[in-house]
Amino acid sequence: MTTQELTDQYIAGTYARLPVTFVRGAGSLLWDADGKEYIDLGSGIAVNGLGLADAGWADAVAAQLRQIAHASNLYYTQPQAQLAKALCERTGMQKVFFANSGAEANECMIKCARKYAADRWGENTRPGVIALKNSFHGRTLATLAATGQEAFHHDFGPFPTGFYFAEANNIQDLARVLAENEGRCCALLLEPVQGEGGVVPLTQEYVQQAAALVKSREMLLLFDEVQTGNGRTGTLFAFEQYGVQPDLLSTAKGLAGGLPLGACLFGETTKDTLGAGSHGSTFGGNPACAAGALYTLSRIDDALLAEVRAKGARIRQRLEGAPGIQSVTGLGLMLGLQTVRPAKEVLADCLHQGVVVLTAKEKVRLLPALNIPTDVLERALDVICQVAAG
Ligand SMILES: *Cc1c(COP(=O)(O)O)cnc(C)c1O
Repeated sequence: MTTQELTDQYIAGTYARLPVTFVRGAGSLLWDADGKEYIDLGSGIAVNGLGLADAGWADAVAAQLRQIAHASNLYYTQPQAQLAKALCERTGMQKVFFANSGAEANECMIKCARKYAADRWGENTRPGVIALKNSFHGRTLATLAATGQEAFHHDFGPFPTGFYFAEANNIQDLARVLAENEGRCCALLLEPVQGEGGVVPLTQEYVQQAAALVKSREMLLLFDEVQTGNGRTGTLFAFEQYGVQPDLLSTAKGLAGGLPLGACLFGETTKDTLGAGSHGSTFGGNPACAAGALYTLSRIDDALLAEVRAKGARIRQRLEGAPGIQSVTGLGLMLGLQTVRPAKEVLADCLHQGVVVLTAKEKVRLLPALNIPTDVLERALDVICQVAAG
């Protein structure tokens, strides 16, 4: 049987997979089982920030695998300690909890916000979390409940309660939800750019006003940077571009450069909220993943971040107003294209022509590696322009 036949027979059918089996990658190039070459503008959904098979990254991970791949959090291990220090120093946050995925990092944020509220105002007094409509926060029950898209609220109930929704970029609507739930809420949860929701950036004005509203009620500001983090938007984390400092910050996708690792970062207000026994994860901060992340973070320096901003601007320059492209949204190398042709058709035609793109709702989504070579990017843009023009 072929890989695709085996997959369809033996793996749960939770994904509508495209008929491609990727076997190898190098930087921003990918090859399938038939030897066909592709340019990768998806990065495994914002995971492979340094491209595939980066030599330094592979060496760092392999060296750690040969030392100690796993020990559990019953003990101390060096890579996660070094990684936590680097993350705190580069974000202004104070402490870190390591998880394995974005959803788990968000679970930790929600648990921490609720415990903070329980410690302060009494258990079950202010457990409410306000999230935004059109958001995406993960596939666990609590993060599905926090996801502001109706489609995710079927079939798996009952869901955890205490989540309320306000319209993105509408400060009046947030004020309304706050007023309707006065004294019941402990946190506001934001994605600075709604990724799965169609690459919709929050405006700086909205985020600053929202942060002020939340602060005046002594609520916590939670940033879900699972997708926007780790250099994706042209700064290490997107919150830097909004002029606010979150109380809690989650990240995952690009953190370990291709290995599964999530992190919840705690600010001054919440750094001591979770004590011994209050939360945990067997694999969280696993030394191999932490070594991959420590290396990845060391490469996301000012020069690479400037490159991300310049390449994002270059993509906009080429695609804004191009035939068949109605708009370009996003930040840095996290971009959404509203195309005249249906996004799924654009994706399929690009794939046929050797360019891997993603979709997000009705948009074509681009998440290239942060270090994609300029000539490779230009070739991919040629294909997108031709496909979008129909
Ligand atoms: C992908 C994503 C998640 C979920 O991450 P997983 O690693 O798939 O659990 C949560 N929030 C945002 C903003 C995401 O983009």
